Amino acid sequence: EHLYDKIDRLEAGESLDRETYTELIEKRNEDLAGYLFEKAVQMREKFYGNRIYIRGLIEFTDYCRNDCYYCGIRKGNRRAERYRLGREEILECCKKGYSLGFRTFVLQGGEDPWYTDDRITELVGTIKKKYSDCAVTLSIGEKERESYERYFEAGADRYLLRHETVCEEHYKTLHPPSMSYAHRQECLKNLKDIGFQTGCGFMVGTPGQTAENLADELLFLKEFQPAMVGIGPFIPHRDTPLGNQAPGSAELTLYLLGLIRLLLPKVLLPATTALGTISHDGRERGILAGANVVMPNLSASLVQGKYELYDHKIYTGAENAAELELLRSCMKKIGCEVTVDRGDTKMDTR
Ligand code: SAM
Repeated sequence: EHLYDKIDRLEAGESLDRETYTELIEKRNEDLAGYLFEKAVQMREKFYGNRIYIRGLIEFTDYCRNDCYYCGIRKGNRRAERYRLGREEILECCKKGYSLGFRTFVLQGGEDPWYTDDRITELVGTIKKKYSDCAVTLSIGEKERESYERYFEAGADRYLLRHETVCEEHYKTLHPPSMSYAHRQECLKNLKDIGFQTGCGFMVGTPGQTAENLADELLFLKEFQPAMVGIGPFIPHRDTPLGNQAPGSAELTLYLLGLIRLLLPKVLLPATTALGTISHDGRERGILAGANVVMPNLSASLVQGKYELYDHKIYTGAENAAELELLRSCMKKIGCEVTVDRGDTKMDTR
C-alpha cells in the first residue's frame, strides 16, 4: 500500500496502527509532506474556515520547583533570572490584551509555590469578572485534583499540560526521579474529568526520541481526545543537562502538525513559539500544515526575556495595535484571518 493511501485513510477517519504511523514518519519526504499539508489544511478549513484564533500569553512566573532536564527555568538553573508578575501586572496585561481583541488569556508559569491556590483562584475570579466574555486558560503544571477543582470553580475554562511523552522510559530520560510519569498522566485525566478543555502535547526531537515513540504519541492523542495539542521542537538551553544536544527540526514538527490535524480534525492546534524560534517563518508554515492558533505574548515588555525556556527564544508579542496588525498581515498573506473570538473547542469534551 502506498504511503499516500495511508494518509487518505487517516483523512477518512480511520485509526492507523503503530507500524503505519512509524512508517509514515520514517519514510516521509517532501512530496508526501506536501500531500499531507494539503489534506490537513482542507480539514482545518472544513471546521474553522480561514479563521485563526489568538491567545494572549502571560508568562507570569519563572520560579519552578521542578527540575526537568530540558527546561531553562528548572530549579537547578542558578543562572536563570527569577521573576514573578504580581496581580496588578497580570491584570494590566489582560486589560491591554482585551482592548486589542484578545478573548482568551493564557496564564503560564513554572510551578511556583508563591502562587498558592488561593492566589490563583482569586486571580482567575477577578479576570473572569472583569472580562466575562473571555476564556481563561491555566498552564501551571501538576497539581492535586482538589486544586484543579478549585481553579475550575473559580472560572478557569481550559488547562494546558503537555504530557511530554507517553513513553515511560523516554519520560525518565527527560525528568529527574522526583517527577512521576504516572502523576502527570493522572493530572491530565483529572483535568478532563473535571470539565476543563484540556490540552496535552510533547516536544519533537528530544534526545533519544524515535519514530516509534512519536507513533505512540499519536496513538495517545487519539485515545485521550484532547481539546488542544501543543507541540514544538525541542530546543536546547545552555544551562541545562540537555544543553549540548541537537535541537528538533521544524520539518518534522510541521509534518506531525499535519498528521495531528487529520487525526483530530477539530483540535485547537497552535503554531508554537518554539516552532517560530527554530524557523523564521515557522508560525506561518505551521498554519499551512494545519495549525489554527497562535499565542502572542502579552507580558514580554514586563518580563524582558527572563522566561527563557530554551536558547534564543523569540519574541512573538502583540502588545500594541501595530504588532497585532503585523500578525494580521502575516496571516492575511497566507489566506488566513485573525479573529476576535474565544475560540472554544468544537469537540465533545465530556
Ligand atoms: N510548568 C508548566 C508545565 O509544566 O506544564 C508550564 C510551563 S512549561 C515551561 C511549558 C512547556 O515548555 C513544557 O511543557 C515543555 O514542553 C516546553 N519546554 C520546556 N523546555 C523546552 C525546551 N528546551 N525546548 C522546547 N520546549 C520546551
